[in-house]
Amino acid sequence: GETSDSFAIEESLKELAQLADTAGLMVVGSTYQKLASPNPRTYIGSGKVAEIKSAIRAFEVETVIFDDELSPGQLRNLEKAFGGDVRVCDRTALILDIFNQRAATHEAALQASLRLFVALAQMEYQLPRLTKMWTHLERQAGGKVKGMGEKQIEVDKRILRTQIGVLKKELESVRKHRKQYRNRRFSVPVPVVSLVGYTNAGKSTLLNQLTGANVLSEDRLFATLDPTTRRVQMKNGSEFLLTDTVGFIQKLPTTLVAAFRATLEEISESSLLVHVVDISHPLAEQQLDAVEKVLAELDVSEIPKLMVWNKVDKVTDPEKIKLEAERRDDIVCISALTGEGLLEFCNAVQEKLKDSMVPVEAFVP
Ligand code: GDP
Repeated sequence: GETSDSFAIEESLKELAQLADTAGLMVVGSTYQKLASPNPRTYIGSGKVAEIKSAIRAFEVETVIFDDELSPGQLRNLEKAFGGDVRVCDRTALILDIFNQRAATHEAALQASLRLFVALAQMEYQLPRLTKMWTHLERQAGGKVKGMGEKQIEVDKRILRTQIGVLKKELESVRKHRKQYRNRRFSVPVPVVSLVGYTNAGKSTLLNQLTGANVLSEDRLFATLDPTTRRVQMKNGSEFLLTDTVGFIQKLPTTLVAAFRATLEEISESSLLVHVVDISHPLAEQQLDAVEKVLAELDVSEIPKLMVWNKVDKVTDPEKIKLEAERRDDIVCISALTGEGLLEFCNAVQEKLKDSMVPVEAFVP
């Protein structure tokens, strides 16, 4: 596929493979192609289609995943071209799958709003793609029910639209509830510190280290889906609430950006943002930029920020990294895994909080 920014195609495919792995699929290979413009019918060229087709036979492939969003027509044409029971999907569909699985396994821990917006995003994604399912059924029926498919599509679309409306209302009421909850929580004027960062940067690990809380930490994408808050107490008696937020990833499908914004509302009410970066990652700088971009969209520029360069235990030249961190402002180097730098981190948080005002709403009972 083609990438819109400097993020290397191969890195993006690696992340896609990681997503597929998270979804429980076994990845047997990946390939890409550079075209001046995508083929309108099949997205990739016919030679590439043939190449993938032979790989499908060789490896008994069941699913082919595209890194970019495919049109309903392209999905249909590709499935036809690959033949058999091969399922073709794109990054968006894969992410929705993962959200769905996660929502099911962490049912109890998850925020109700999360489940709702997953359902919503899924339905909104399905809407334009309904045609595909019905023409497929028509084909199976040998054309006997020709025309019936179209009528059914209209019925289905109406049902889906009604369900979407219901979900949107529920989501709104859940959001109201959470806001009330947040206001209650703020009746005790403890500053809220939000951890933000690229997925896998080490946010849950840091939260675990600091609080002994058992937040799920996995070397997988989306290990943290529900925002979790813990109280951190310092030896000097002062304390703050540390909130873990959902991880950011590159190329988040548009349907989910809006949904994310809802869960990220909490960020806008924190006293301090701690941006956790996996400094050992070869594309640390790009991931850092991607997160900053999302933060800019969230309109949180007035909230003080502290950057944390995590996983210094993993870099080849820690001294060089530490010098670079000193050269820039407001960066603390840590290893959430070994505990290195955690005291400095907490002190830096305290310093930052001293400078910052706790939001006014924080004192509203
Ligand atoms: P999150 O998605 O930002 O919450 O990331 P996690 O906390 O789940 O961490 C992702 C992976 O990175 C896990 O396998 C962690 O064990 C690992 N990790 C986190 N912090 C460190 C660190 O300081 N050093 C090393 N080597 N690994 C780390």
